Amino acid sequence: MASSSSIHDDDGAAALASLAIAGLVPFSTVDWPGRLVATVFLQGCPWRCSYCHNPDLQSCREPGAVAWAEVAELLEARRGLLDGVVLTGGEPTRQRAALAAARWARERGFEVGLHTAGPYPSRLAALLPHVGWVGLDVKASAARYDDVAAAPGAARKVGESLRLVLEAASTRGLAYEVRTTVAPGMAVDTLRLARELREAGVVTYALQQARAEGTLHLRDAHPPGWDEEYAALVEAVRALGFPTLHLR
Ligand code: SF4
Repeated sequence: MASSSSIHDDDGAAALASLAIAGLVPFSTVDWPGRLVATVFLQGCPWRCSYCHNPDLQSCREPGAVAWAEVAELLEARRGLLDGVVLTGGEPTRQRAALAAARWARERGFEVGLHTAGPYPSRLAALLPHVGWVGLDVKASAARYDDVAAAPGAARKVGESLRLVLEAASTRGLAYEVRTTVAPGMAVDTLRLARELREAGVVTYALQQARAEGTLHLRDAHPPGWDEEYAALVEAVRALGFPTLHLR
């Protein structure tokens, strides 16, 4: 009869083998500020933002192109050089097996970072204890969220995910960054959102100006007057007093 630990191991191995991984960047200094990591792109996202830079990763039906065994081999071979791994996408929490990946890495002494847009708060809650840093995309104010993500109910899910991240930050010191990509036409809403985030207690915030290259639907990221409008937005957000504000 199998022991409970071997059942756990078998379940974990099966989950890891089931992961649909679209790509692997062996060394990244930009996906987790201050860390050298391998970045794993998990296939699939339930949302359809117009400015998405990874539209090829949206489909939930595409099989993976990289086996988890390859990720594991890389991490073990670069032990001492790499600090850990970042799970990104697509939307990494779409795949339940992301939890097995985070556990695998943590149990072997690697740090785990997570990029998420927060569409699955209960899966995020299960992942957070295994994660050392989260980059949480918050895309719009609650009023506009479902339009921006092209998904009904998105606003409520992101609100819950933000609450989970802030709670983990205050109770166990989880490091995080909340970030917003700003496309033309979104300046007014982004300022409203930034106020909401500051009032909610967000301390580390990043604004990212949308780029058209690589997107399916964002035809012009710099229409006349937009760069000036974006610069004014940056100043207004700066005045809100986030302790750390990154501009990209
Ligand atoms: S949530 Fe992220 S991955 Fe999904 S469509 Fe939006 S930008 Fe793309």
